[in-house]
Amino acid sequence: MRLILFGPPGAGKGTQAKRLETLHGLKQLSTGDMLRSAVDSGSALGLKIKDIMASGELVSDDIMCQLIELRIRQDDCENGFILDGFPRTTAQAEALDAMLAKNDMQLDHVIELVVDEEELFKRLRSRIEESGDTVRSDDNEETFKHRLQVYKNQTAPVLPFYTDKGLVRQIDGMKPVDAVASEIDATLGLSAAA
Ligand code: ADP
Repeated sequence: MRLILFGPPGAGKGTQAKRLETLHGLKQLSTGDMLRSAVDSGSALGLKIKDIMASGELVSDDIMCQLIELRIRQDDCENGFILDGFPRTTAQAEALDAMLAKNDMQLDHVIELVVDEEELFKRLRSRIEESGDTVRSDDNEETFKHRLQVYKNQTAPVLPFYTDKGLVRQIDGMKPVDAVASEIDATLGLSAAA
């Protein structure tokens, strides 16, 4: 099964993707995690994207599409994968379509986690408190506001692209983690014990 987890920053995409990976063997492909490893490694790519990420802006479509195309063809994606943080622009969605077709792959569902802004800020504050010194460079209120704006301007407009294909399933992301997880399982027709 191939999925996209969609939703604003802090909606719980990473949490749910990790769970789906552990319980159902679908590989989590988090572009945020990939980019953070590139930054930590100090590679040329890492140096190029460090400041972009810290500002809450998006890394170029070109870089993102190359990263994802390399990734989805690897053996650990054979059972399926969950895209977490990609696509984030219409250009990325169109490029994804082309790369899936080229690799004879199909997308099964787009899961949209719906969470209101007040809750997103609440979650951000508790994440900042919990992480202490290890807080992400883009996890502060100022940058978070910008990330939300970027989401609204560039990422949310991607949804109609998938609605038109009949792929979007909305999930109430305001509920506790386990309740959200059960709803996702039910929507995907996966049994929790699988
Ligand atoms: P969140 O989902 O909480 O916004 P992520 O960890 O997914 O955070 O992403 C963090 C940052 O990494 C983004 O603000 C952006 O700079 C960069 N990034 C991640 N995925 C993409 C993407 N698909 N396209 C462009 N930039 C991306």
